[in-house]
Amino acid sequence: SQDLGGKTALVTAAGQGIGRASALAYKRAGARVIATDINAAAVESLAAEGIETRLLDVLSDQAVKDAAAEIGPVDILFNCAGVVHGGTVLETSDEDLAFAWDLNVRAMVRTARAFLPGMLSRGGGAIVNMASVASSVKGVPNRFAYSVTKAAVIGLTKSIAADYVAQGVRCNAICPGTVESPSLQERMRAGGDYEAARAAFIARQPMGRLGTPEEIADLAVYLAGASYTTGQAYVIDGGWTA
Ligand code: NAD
Repeated sequence: SQDLGGKTALVTAAGQGIGRASALAYKRAGARVIATDINAAAVESLAAEGIETRLLDVLSDQAVKDAAAEIGPVDILFNCAGVVHGGTVLETSDEDLAFAWDLNVRAMVRTARAFLPGMLSRGGGAIVNMASVASSVKGVPNRFAYSVTKAAVIGLTKSIAADYVAQGVRCNAICPGTVESPSLQERMRAGGDYEAARAAFIARQPMGRLGTPEEIADLAVYLAGASYTTGQAYVIDGGWTA
């Protein structure tokens, strides 16, 4: 496993789900961890684990700039914040598409602009971006805004990787299948028949179960330290695209 001793890792959307599991995994790997989220109670509960916490709304240019100025250079940036909208191209409103673009894509542009200069000043760093198999990897029904924006995450990941590879900054994306998380629980409840929704999500995972946030966090730790890979979209999907 990776030794992240001496490294500083900043995680967005670390209050719950994959971001939270990743903040804990970075801590176990020896990093100094700064866990951020808009949900104060959720993120502050990580302080008991020796993790530094702060409020950070990645929709705000100013908040992201201020965070970078206050925190200083980081070695690892895990952009985990993201939102799922249901709907086909005909059902998706411009408002939902714009919001998905802002949170799933523009937020990663904001954090890159804020934290890349610090990485470059220190001669390197690792950016890990949360994409999904619902993207350019695989067409998934009823996920138009999500898939468009998560495909853009893969594009921005490759672009940053190509631009900064010679300066020691690596940038990779994680593409999970379906992962047990609080927002997935909400999506399964939203339709009114939780058991049927859960069975449908499990049915599309050939391993016959959902992924766990900890399984995705393992990959987030690996990519933070993996010194010979950049610009890649790492699929971790229980065999969905096998
Ligand atoms: P989640 O959706 O349950 O939690 C999301 C967290 O993001 C919450 O703590 C919330 O407070 C925070 N957040 C929301 N808006 C924010 C903002 N503006 N600024 C900062 N934080 C904000 O977590 P999850 O399901 O583990 O998803 C995390 C990421 O993984 C997302 O990008 C999601 O698209 C991606 N993903 C999830 C799955 C899955 O099946 N759960 C699959 C593939 C990809």
